Amino acid sequence: MEDPLKSPGREERADVLILGAGPAGLMAALGAAGLSASNFDLSRNRKKILLIEKMPKPGRKLLIAGSGRCNVTHAGPIADFCAHYGRDAGKARFVKPALMNFTNQNLVAFLAARGLPCVELNDGKIFPRSENSRDVLRVLLEACEDAGVQFLCGEEVTALSRNEETPVFEAKTRSGRTFQAEKLVCAVGGKSFPTTGSTGDGQIFAQAFGLPFVELRPALTPVTVKAYAFASCAGIALPETLVTLWRSGKKLAEHRGDVLFTHHGLSGPGILDFSRDFLPGDELHLTLAEGLEDAPLCALLQENPQREIGNLIRTEFRLPDRFVSELLRSEGLPAEMKAWEVTKKTRKTLLKLLKDFALVIQTLGGFREAMVTAGGVALEQVNRQTMESRRVPGLYFAGEVLDVDGDSGGFNLQFAFSSGLLAGQSAGAGQTGA
Ligand SMILES: Cc1cc2nc3c(=O)[nH]c(=O)nc-3n(C[C@H](O)[C@H](O)[C@H](O)COP(=O)(O)OP(=O)(O)OC[C@H]3O[C@@H](n4cnc5c(N)ncnc54)[C@H](O)[C@@H]3O)c2cc1C
Repeated sequence: MEDPLKSPGREERADVLILGAGPAGLMAALGAAGLSASNFDLSRNRKKILLIEKMPKPGRKLLIAGSGRCNVTHAGPIADFCAHYGRDAGKARFVKPALMNFTNQNLVAFLAARGLPCVELNDGKIFPRSENSRDVLRVLLEACEDAGVQFLCGEEVTALSRNEETPVFEAKTRSGRTFQAEKLVCAVGGKSFPTTGSTGDGQIFAQAFGLPFVELRPALTPVTVKAYAFASCAGIALPETLVTLWRSGKKLAEHRGDVLFTHHGLSGPGILDFSRDFLPGDELHLTLAEGLEDAPLCALLQENPQREIGNLIRTEFRLPDRFVSELLRSEGLPAEMKAWEVTKKTRKTLLKLLKDFALVIQTLGGFREAMVTAGGVALEQVNRQTMESRRVPGLYFAGEVLDVDGDSGGFNLQFAFSSGLLAGQSAGAGQTGA
């Protein structure tokens, strides 16, 4: 029999139409098919669920997540997750119902039930035991297959509209096909790593319905540093370092996390998770020796007169050797200088370096480097209990297309999974009138 999905020019109708086959879109399909925290059986789905994906294959970004190892979520109570989506309390409120509806534990149980156990590795990050993102994608695709979800890959949706009378959504693709459904989930992602297919199309669709949209910005991004003298330290990480953000002489905020030196600046969770607050020209002050004051430093030098200062600082403050040499060199101090040779002025310089090592941000990474996108469909017009638009009944949003960006460590994928599932469940249940 002719497959209507493969017939150009024909209108094809689905019960639930989903745009984007990333983690949010795939989970939306499963949610529409009946997946919930308490039901993993998808065999009874009778709905026609159609997923349209622009790329030739689904889940391109999921495959590169966690450098291909896929940090699917984070350990700990789900209520603690809410604080990992920026400082805005409104965001914490927004993400909560979706996260509570399908928690980190529910996700781990779902993956395990489909033959993919997870493990908690360092710092509470949770990965599939195989540490292979292909396995996560395989589980999602197999579950979609069990539920009879139909896929149309390599078709880019270019226009969306809604007939107010019927009321039916119409999605037109670049190749001229038209698809219709009463419920539509928009899960087209953000704008970062555009080669994965996420090119910011959410803005076009939000505008088509006159919905407010927060300007897109790169987030979870490394920074380059002005007059950077630490290229030789690329690859060196300073664990759990306190970073303070200064702008025009004012202290704005602080954050703690691992800081990684790169060839041109700084990266690592301590910088990436903080980067949504940065502007070029801001100063980042690293506290290398927390709580250090002049008197203890003076005593340390006096008690070890014959020790070289590089060696003394490295062992006393547990800092990497090469980094300490470069740090001292940046102030014209040789690492071989003996402690007894340190003058009061040099001691003041050392104290400043160790307490308040300042670097000036030159640039923030762009969308090609940023792991996630800040901005997106404005949250005030989305019902957080259902993910349905308050202005356009039957239209749901999920994942990174929304104005939600999380910290590194599994918080973005968990939100994509949870919000996708909630949007799909709501669309599948036919709830409207948010
Ligand atoms: C390098 C990298 C590593 C990461 N690692 C992690 C990690 O380990 N843990 C973590 O939690 N997060 C990680 N993230 C973030 C995480 O991958 C994203 O937050 C997540 O993929 C968002 O899911 P999504 O489904 O909302 O969007 P996406 O995954 O971006 O999926 C959106 C889909 O929609 C499709 N699409 C777009 N426009 C159209 C259109 N017009 N028509 C049809 N289809 C369209 C796209 O092709 C894409 O497949 C990482 C991101 C990057 C870039």
